[in-house]
Amino acid sequence: MKKENFDIKKWIENPDELLVIAGPCSVESRDQFFVTARKLSDSHQVKILRGGIWKPRTRPNGFEGIGEEGLPWMREISKETGLPFMTEVATPEHVELALRYNIDALWIGARTVANPFSVQQLADALSGIDIPVFVKNPIAPDVKLWLGAFERLSSSGLNHLVAIHRGFQDVNAAPYRNKPRWEIPIELHRQNKNIPIITDISHICGCRDILQQTAQKALDLATNGLMIETHCNPQTALTDAEQQITPYELKSLLDNLVIHKTRSTNTDFLLQELRNQIDNIDDELIRLLARRSEISSKIGIIKKEHNLTVLQLDRWNSILSSHIEKGKILGLKEELIKDIFEIIHKDSIDRQL
Ligand code: PEP
Ligand code: MN
Repeated sequence: MKKENFDIKKWIENPDELLVIAGPCSVESRDQFFVTARKLSDSHQVKILRGGIWKPRTRPNGFEGIGEEGLPWMREISKETGLPFMTEVATPEHVELALRYNIDALWIGARTVANPFSVQQLADALSGIDIPVFVKNPIAPDVKLWLGAFERLSSSGLNHLVAIHRGFQDVNAAPYRNKPRWEIPIELHRQNKNIPIITDISHICGCRDILQQTAQKALDLATNGLMIETHCNPQTALTDAEQQITPYELKSLLDNLVIHKTRSTNTDFLLQELRNQIDNIDDELIRLLARRSEISSKIGIIKKEHNLTVLQLDRWNSILSSHIEKGKILGLKEELIKDIFEIIHKDSIDRQL
């Protein structure tokens, strides 16, 4: 059944409703894309179809995407279902071809966003064309690089931009394929409140079994939408087979999500009171940190006078383990205490050098 076309630009201007983007990692064949897209359109939950036409592969000689041949299929199924479609572009040639087939939106992949030259070439190719562009986070956890891509696109006159959080490469990413580092999209939001952020749980997770909990976490952190790779027969997928789910599984995942409101007048008062308490605690923390730093500097002077090394490894090991133990008793995770005191200790060392 043909539906009212979903208006992506309107959504970007007012991203209240949770946006769901789904479709295969790669468009592989007409049949695979049509079967998947028709099933996705049946549930009415998916608003935009995705499909990779050009695939950035880590090593050569794998499936590198169907290329231009797939674009008319996307156009055709989009017309049939009323779902707008989007694909990844990495070069000005991709942009030109995608526009020739009246693509509804584009996304720039994580590897491309990592390279300002490439982003600038795309921004130049798109200059004056107000098509919605979704920008994935760069592979490295660098908010400035991510923001820089938005700045380059805005300077080319693109006014409808969306961020896609897809996690970050990290040797300690397990159980994820790409470590979520939720604080990074939160920081992007703090620095530019006008950019809606959606979460690509497929590339964060890299496997099916943690998709549900990761989608819920993204919603709990007020994401504006989800991108989820969906394939009619994931086991046979030519790319990212381990992380794709069927349209049926997608429906169950979406049906099981608890969708929150970001604001509610009933809770505003209660929240305000608790936020005041948090603000007071933060003030106190800052004052305590300043006092601690002053003492560190005094210790530094004594060490210099007595020709002692700044780093005293035994002392550092003993304070860290005793703090971790104290934290545990108070219900604080070892990782939290470790991270915080590593930063504090580094500052203390810097002051003494
Ligand atoms: C993709 O969405 O299929 C893709 C290649 O994503 P990323 O750029 O996040 O790796
Ligand atoms: Mn993929």
